[in-house]
Amino acid sequence: MCGIVGYVGPQQAQHVVVEGLRRLEYRGYDSAGVALVVPDGTGPGRIAEAKKAGKLANLEKVVADSPLPASHTGIGHTRWATHGAPNDVNAHPHLGHERRVALVHNGIIENFAELRSRLEADDHVLVSETDTEVVAHLVELQVQSGVDLTTAMQRVCLVLEGAFTLVAIDAHDPERVVAARRNSPLVVGVGEGEHFLGSDVAAFIEHTREALELGQDQVVCITRDGVEITDFRGRPAEGRRYHVDWDLSAAEKDGHDWFMRKEIFEQPKAVADSLLGRRTQHGLLQLDEMRLSDDEIRDIDKIIIIACGTSFYAGMVAKYAIEHWTRIPVEVELSSEFRYRDPILDHSTLVVAISQSGETADTLQAIRHARTQRSRVLAICNTNGSTIPRESDAVIYTHAGPEIGVASTKGFLTQLVACYLLALYVAQVKGTRYGDEIDQIMGQLEAIPEQIETVLAGAQQVYDLAAEHTGARSVLFLGRHAGYPVALEGALKLKELAYLHAEGFAAGELKHGPIALVEEGLPVLCVVPPRGRDQLHEKMISGIQEVRARGARTICLAEEGDTKIEPYADVLVRLPQVPVLLQPLVATIPLQLFACELATLLGHDVDQPRNLAKSVTVE
Ligand code: GLU
Repeated sequence: MCGIVGYVGPQQAQHVVVEGLRRLEYRGYDSAGVALVVPDGTGPGRIAEAKKAGKLANLEKVVADSPLPASHTGIGHTRWATHGAPNDVNAHPHLGHERRVALVHNGIIENFAELRSRLEADDHVLVSETDTEVVAHLVELQVQSGVDLTTAMQRVCLVLEGAFTLVAIDAHDPERVVAARRNSPLVVGVGEGEHFLGSDVAAFIEHTREALELGQDQVVCITRDGVEITDFRGRPAEGRRYHVDWDLSAAEKDGHDWFMRKEIFEQPKAVADSLLGRRTQHGLLQLDEMRLSDDEIRDIDKIIIIACGTSFYAGMVAKYAIEHWTRIPVEVELSSEFRYRDPILDHSTLVVAISQSGETADTLQAIRHARTQRSRVLAICNTNGSTIPRESDAVIYTHAGPEIGVASTKGFLTQLVACYLLALYVAQVKGTRYGDEIDQIMGQLEAIPEQIETVLAGAQQVYDLAAEHTGARSVLFLGRHAGYPVALEGALKLKELAYLHAEGFAAGELKHGPIALVEEGLPVLCVVPPRGRDQLHEKMISGIQEVRARGARTICLAEEGDTKIEPYADVLVRLPQVPVLLQPLVATIPLQLFACELATLLGHDVDQPRNLAKSVTVE
């Protein structure tokens, strides 16, 4: 949510910052802006800025038509508006009263109204509706009082409430960029004679793969040759240095029209990578950052999974697998609801937080609450070193590589893999499954990447199907058991990408109300469970018959060799044969392809759907 870039070094800052914003645009695209320190040989420099509502392309046009002056120090922002409309005036960077300080912000300043009234009482004119502008004024007041930008930032952070990443420049100090973070993401890129700041490493991956991770409540000052980190009180602090193990090509579309489509096709590799190295030479499962002892795991008597959006659906699938393999009761809860309902937690509750970015604000607050109740927290996350894994007792990293399409695809599939691994690991420690059973399931998981390839090879059938549905006004998705969350995920994809009314239902629930929605010709996508669990299969067929009887057009996703389904399917999309618990790993793919293609045909921006942003860092 919002992309932030900062740069100081020998290159032209405008170019570095705008390029960085391009790679971060998936984080927000309500507006974009850049501000530079333009030195004046004789006296204090000045701030030059350009900002524009809408996507980055609008800003690029502005700076192409009237380029900003040469500068080696700059900041930039792509916005996901929380306070104030997405227009030019509310676009970041925001400037102080005297235009000496420029500042960008990710997050929400909760006490901005009070700070704003105080500034206005002192005759400050604030031009935007944002919560951010007050911070620019406050930082500027500090530097005007004679302290340097770092001290100014520290002092201001102490009076701010809420979540923020802030990055600022001072016209009188052309050689530094200063940033601060609390509950919002920020990383430093370490180059030779140049330094970078970014909401994530994609901002500077083209220039350096050496990064510094910052802790909570820290201020960082970058110059050409140095990085200085302190806490908000000015005490020295340290960042953790790490090497980014993916390169620029991972952040490119690689010949595909959309990042999302590229990421759909990367799923065989993402799943294989997430399974890699999980077994010892003796065949036992091992998890990378499982900082929980076997005794602690044996102690667990309840698991609560917390997540948002697509990750929540991964959690729903996990419930089936964990309960079945470990016999531990599992609850799945939306992060944003969790801490407000006074959940029952204690030291034998394991809270599993699922977040692709590791920065999801709702989930972060939920795990903090869980920890205050002495529960242990395990994170499932795709972003090394991000806040949620850092604040958890254990982590299972998914190895999806960077996910740039706003709608999660390979992120979701690898979260499923991590959930299965967790379930099997707990089963191994608790002894609820025999070693050879675990071995067999691992073998089935290891066969999945090839099976996903088969589904992807049939993409054209799904694309043709999408072409037939460009006029659809509503689409339903039905599933049962582990196929139910898949139906929900299919519907979510269609809502977020094609802006279509779409709903997912548990097939058995339909007759209790939603069947009233069914009318002649309504497309209903049905995730048909494998035949192995016969009752489940039979019951699904009944559900399909019920909607067909009312005129629905049924598009059935069913396994190879399932002939029983044939009379009930207007269209049949074949899936490879996999056990019911693992079926989401293959059944989700056609639904992703369907949503991606339909949105493309409708002329929507698949990678940047309206009103959305990836990595939701506000509550
Ligand atoms: N709250 C700020 C605004 O609405 C920052 C939003 C963001 O993170 O992009 O401008």
